[in-house]
Amino acid sequence: MFLEYTKKAGSIEVICGSMFSGKTEELIRRLKRAQFANQKVEIYKPAVDIRYSEDSVVSHDFHSIPSTPIDTPASMLLLSADVEVVGIDEAQFFDDTLVEVAQTLAGRGIRVIVAGLDTDFAGKPFGPMPALMAVAEDVQKVHAICVKCGSIANNSHRLSGDDQLVVLGEKDTYEPLCRHCYNKAVSESEQKGQA
Ligand code: ZN
Repeated sequence: MFLEYTKKAGSIEVICGSMFSGKTEELIRRLKRAQFANQKVEIYKPAVDIRYSEDSVVSHDFHSIPSTPIDTPASMLLLSADVEVVGIDEAQFFDDTLVEVAQTLAGRGIRVIVAGLDTDFAGKPFGPMPALMAVAEDVQKVHAICVKCGSIANNSHRLSGDDQLVVLGEKDTYEPLCRHCYNKAVSESEQKGQA
């Protein structure tokens, strides 16, 4: 890989956590602060994420900023000329090329802020997120609250039986659980499956 570099230091920041952990809210908070500082900001999300709006990053509590849906991370390289800050939401749905694209953007001196789910419904590292965390300058894990016991929740437990990985979440599909309650819920549903 050819690493571009400039005098201006770019960087990669990752914001990750479970469903309902406030990832998108934290992404929007950072991007709005960059806008207040008169920096040119662009926001992208995977075209697959069309839960509420075709062209906005919309968080669960409806603070939103306009974004561009893209099919492939490479599109950001063409669309981000003259941009100082790039925000990427729902990054777990992109393929692994996102890791190299983020590094290329950062190499151009761009501040890249990536938000996404760290693990999928099966508790496994999700898409390009683990590799992004490895190369990032800064990683922040944000947490939801376990709906069973009130502890810090790090897992997105899927309530529906659908095995398809890309199920876009809302409260009727997922619940945030802590490690203990997640393991209990998974073993209970496995026992049900065997009965
Ligand atoms: Zn719990």
